[in-house]
Amino acid sequence: MKPAGRFVAEVLTRLEKAADVGVNLLELDALAHQMIRDRGAESCYIDYHPSFGAMPFGKVLCTSVNDAVLHGLPHDYTLRDGDLLSVDFAASVDGWVSDSALSVVVGTPDQRDLDLIDTTRRALDAGIDAARAGSRLGDVSAAIGAVAHAEGLSVNLDFGGHGVGRTMHGDPHVPNDGRQGRGLPLRPGLVIAIEPWFLHTTDRVYTDRDGWTIRSADRSRGAHSEHTIAVTDGDPLVLTARD
Ligand code: MG
Repeated sequence: MKPAGRFVAEVLTRLEKAADVGVNLLELDALAHQMIRDRGAESCYIDYHPSFGAMPFGKVLCTSVNDAVLHGLPHDYTLRDGDLLSVDFAASVDGWVSDSALSVVVGTPDQRDLDLIDTTRRALDAGIDAARAGSRLGDVSAAIGAVAHAEGLSVNLDFGGHGVGRTMHGDPHVPNDGRQGRGLPLRPGLVIAIEPWFLHTTDRVYTDRDGWTIRSADRSRGAHSEHTIAVTDGDPLVLTARD
């Protein structure tokens, strides 16, 4: 799964650099789509059509801006100064998938947004560090949740991490909060996407009219950090690590 992880990391690195004031979300999607073609990879999103979706997703990226935090359907929107953009990307290389996400502020940042992004990154690091053989899935969830609670943030349990392999979503579900010592025992070879996402002042969300984009119930902004990782005999292996 390493080549898939490296490719996903390359795409997110390019997107992070490309995201700027005046750039349209559709341009970011087109850039990622071109990188998929050049690599001979396959998008996990474009034909994605789960039971709750009104139609196939149709794009290769999730772009979630400001009060949107997850599953943002790229649309004709030009980024403005101070926008908080979350980009989620998954692709398949030679039949194996990796999945990763990051948040960035374009233009002049609000310190509170930078702090929220930093909290999701620290929660991701804590979750990864807890993903060790002999531990349990609840240890990963509890480690993520502890970082959120220390910042006074409440955690939504409806959307979290997941198993990754031949397809983008598999068992187990990896909630962003939980109890230590509970849940699935972690064994070497288990590959999961860990993806803390938090909102400034709520844990409640709703689905936009587009049928995909998940927005905060109170319009506060959200941030999202995700890596695909493998449990090993030693330290967790971050397959989507960026340089
Ligand atoms: Mg993802």
